Amino acid sequence: MLISNKIVPLKKLLQEVTRLRKNKKSIVVLSGSFDMFHSGHLGLIKAAKNKGDILIVLLNSDASIRSYKGNGRPIILEKDRAELLAALIYVDYVCIFDELTCILPLTRIKPDIFVNGSDWGKLSIETDFLKEWGGKIKIHKSLSETTSSILERVNNEKPASQAIFFDRDGVLIKDTGYLHKVGDVVFLDGVFETLKKLGEKYKLFVITNQSGIARGMYSNAAVKAVHAHIDRECKKKGITITEFLVCPHQDEDGCECRKPKNGLLLEAAKKYNIALGKSWIVGDKLTDIEAGKTSNMRTIFMGKLEKHVHSIRSPHVVVTSFKEILNSIQ
Ligand SMILES: [Zn+2]
Repeated sequence: MLISNKIVPLKKLLQEVTRLRKNKKSIVVLSGSFDMFHSGHLGLIKAAKNKGDILIVLLNSDASIRSYKGNGRPIILEKDRAELLAALIYVDYVCIFDELTCILPLTRIKPDIFVNGSDWGKLSIETDFLKEWGGKIKIHKSLSETTSSILERVNNEKPASQAIFFDRDGVLIKDTGYLHKVGDVVFLDGVFETLKKLGEKYKLFVITNQSGIARGMYSNAAVKAVHAHIDRECKKKGITITEFLVCPHQDEDGCECRKPKNGLLLEAAKKYNIALGKSWIVGDKLTDIEAGKTSNMRTIFMGKLEKHVHSIRSPHVVVTSFKEILNSIQ
């Protein structure tokens, strides 16, 4: 049967029921709003279909749901809820009703079985109506979450932060090659104003490969001193750098934190509850871009791009100065 043919008004449904009864088919009715379809719904529908030959789903209309669940519901409109149900092989008919309860269509259909979820139970309003024609009520116990409990869980979740990860040398400060002395730190043009603005909405990080440590060119402490200096200068301007993320390794170490690897990004995302999909990385090397792209982030390349760049390293945005970042990130 075509999916659209399964969605029927009550009048047409009653004609179908009469025909099916002549063919000795047992009729099962299930009623609900099936808003934001989830596995608990599917379990209920499968269980209901198992109770007889024909499964009719009585579906609360949008108006019906609004009047008993409030203005925020339904989440999914009746047309889409009906189509989703009709697409299931277990469902034979879907009929939308406007009233608060399904008593009206139920008492016209007079099903053999009425299946109800355990949240309503035997005390449900339909019980005594079913007795009038010898129909039976079956309670389906579901261990799954309900739409309401899913929404509660989602709403209670602390919203994830957005972040911007900046490469250090050549982006925030002048790249002098293996920089490791506080005295060599020169901030690039527009860095403070731009960071100040971006910091209003985003958590700011510095992410830097410092293979000079692994190569024995300078110590971890020297890098820390440089970062403490950058941090101090930023603080003076009212800018907070959440953390300086440092990979001290070189290629041969095969670590997970040296860009283009994204270990430091993933770690920070976990630690600070950051939505990487809504976050940015800014770098002057294609390895920065690759680390961002493999982390599902937006990427900004600062500098002049080669002509052909593989898609894994192809930035979303190219800028030539730090200030231009504001044109892309609001
Ligand atoms: Zn590393």
